[in-house]
Amino acid sequence: MAIPPSVCVFCGSRAGISPTYAQAARATGALIAHRGWRLVYGAGDIGIMGEVARSAQQAGASVFGVIPTHLMALEVGRLDLGTLVVTETMHERKKVMFTNSDAIVVLPGGAGTLDEFFEVLTWRQIGLHTKPVFLLDIDGFWQPLLALVDHVIAQGFAAPSLRDFFVSVDTIDALETQLSAALE
Ligand code: AMP
Repeated sequence: MAIPPSVCVFCGSRAGISPTYAQAARATGALIAHRGWRLVYGAGDIGIMGEVARSAQQAGASVFGVIPTHLMALEVGRLDLGTLVVTETMHERKKVMFTNSDAIVVLPGGAGTLDEFFEVLTWRQIGLHTKPVFLLDIDGFWQPLLALVDHVIAQGFAAPSLRDFFVSVDTIDALETQLSAALE
């Protein structure tokens, strides 16, 4: 059977202070399922990461999870996923997630999510891939990040093209429009 278009979701292993974040995560999971796409994610069952996966799975999506051995307990690694890859290291996890995806969506999250976003952005900047990257800017969550990227460009530490390597969307509908244009 052919592998459906695959969406890698990077997001928080915590829930954040507003219920909006979990709602957005559930809506993203449901969107992936309803479109017939596959979810690729960090295989944990905590924070909004868990929300994305539960909602995608409940709505019938195939789910591909990747988790390093040492986080199996900490992030409550899910054993009931369509595919579960257990890696030795965090680097390997990111690589397996990335290589098995056609597009990347970044939901609100913490340092891990930022690391994941900047890694795919860096790879894009040096021409290692052309996969589309979307920031879901729910409730303006990513505005400080967008301001930082603009600042880095304005101060001459990145080319203006850095801003073209990802698209910020502020609603689930806009995310769906962008993802379907990229994947279908
Ligand atoms: P966080 O946004 O900090 O909640 O982390 C989100 C996800 O990123 C979790 O699955 C973390 O295990 C993962 N993560 C945290 N730090 C790193 C890192 N340095 N490299 C790759 N993934 C990370």
